[in-house]
Amino acid sequence: MKKEGYPIYLDYSATTPIDPQVASVIETHYRTTYGNASSIHSYGRTAKVVLEVSREIIAQSIGAETAEIFFTAGGTESDNHALIGTAFAQRRKYGKDHIIVSAIEHHAVLDCAEYLKNHNFRVTYLPVDANGIVIIAELERLVNDKTAIVSVMHANNETGVIQPIEEIAELLKKNKIVFHSDTVQTIGKIPVTVNDLGVDLLALSAHKIYGPKGIGAIYIRKGTEIDSLLHGGSQERKNRAGTENVPLIAGFAKAIELADNGREELFLLASKLRSLLKNLIQKNIRNVILNSVEERSIPHILNVSLDSSVYSIESETMLLNMDLKGVAVSSGSACTSGSVQPSHVLLAMGRDAKTTQATIRFSFGKFTTINEVENAGRIFCAIVQSLPKK
Ligand code: PLP
Repeated sequence: MKKEGYPIYLDYSATTPIDPQVASVIETHYRTTYGNASSIHSYGRTAKVVLEVSREIIAQSIGAETAEIFFTAGGTESDNHALIGTAFAQRRKYGKDHIIVSAIEHHAVLDCAEYLKNHNFRVTYLPVDANGIVIIAELERLVNDKTAIVSVMHANNETGVIQPIEEIAELLKKNKIVFHSDTVQTIGKIPVTVNDLGVDLLALSAHKIYGPKGIGAIYIRKGTEIDSLLHGGSQERKNRAGTENVPLIAGFAKAIELADNGREELFLLASKLRSLLKNLIQKNIRNVILNSVEERSIPHILNVSLDSSVYSIESETMLLNMDLKGVAVSSGSACTSGSVQPSHVLLAMGRDAKTTQATIRFSFGKFTTINEVENAGRIFCAIVQSLPKK
């Protein structure tokens, strides 16, 4: 990838650049595979083959059956489908009206919980400890025979902290509760296998793994009761109406294939880059808080806060300064940057509001170089060192 003259991109958790091989697959299919996959003529049948081969590739990647994968418009829609579709189906069939979501979920889950609250579901937020890990003993206390679904993400998008999904799954299986996990930030980074994790539902998105934006998938374990959100056609075996975007789906499949093949190499690269940046920052700035424990988080993210008792600066100002110096980073999730709201994730971990507002998330990917990380680190340290201290 040619990058000279461009700002340094360290915001891979918001989105990744598209892999040229993926772009080429999409372009080819846009030009050639334009039939509607539901049509019975040869154009339709060709599109249908591409659709089903792509579904198989994605299913294999996460150890699912092909019939358990349904294409959506991305992680947000998959989370909406999981939460809302399950909650309504469980209430109608079994009278269950209670849902539990972790306090650190992405807004794609949290806002569904709010929506369900407005439809007379009871919502409980599962707390996390100071390291950002959900408290299993609390979950054990909170589940009851009215609990329809529990949603806990695999790794958090702001801190990278990995959650104990397998343990949670065991507890929920005993209680016959549907378990959803948002794996948008872990797919292609650490192993994601549905049976090892023990989940019933998973949300996936292509644009975090060098694939196209606007396409994703939901894994629905066979036998899980779930309503559809979109009605109108019998596509995706009546689970998601609407003509499938075959070129993007083929791009998603290519992206997941490449991500699986390069996962270990990327993990090593990200680990090296995170160590390098962390050491550089810790050497040059005294009052910096690391927001994730290394051994419990994916190495593709480094999230740091400036101690509010020493510095008075907000993330947005930091981001603008970094941008002016040619470094693109984020204050947390892309969806909350641009607003000065303190991060709900860091607040849940017990950080004070002012400190959460002076937070920067660096995230790395397969096109990031050591040189870029060193330069970005130096620029960050220089900006912080120039700040007036309290
Ligand atoms: N879930 C998590 C953890 C995310 O990080 C994101 C994107 O930032 C989403 C869901 C939303 O995915 P999409 O952008 O594909 O709708």
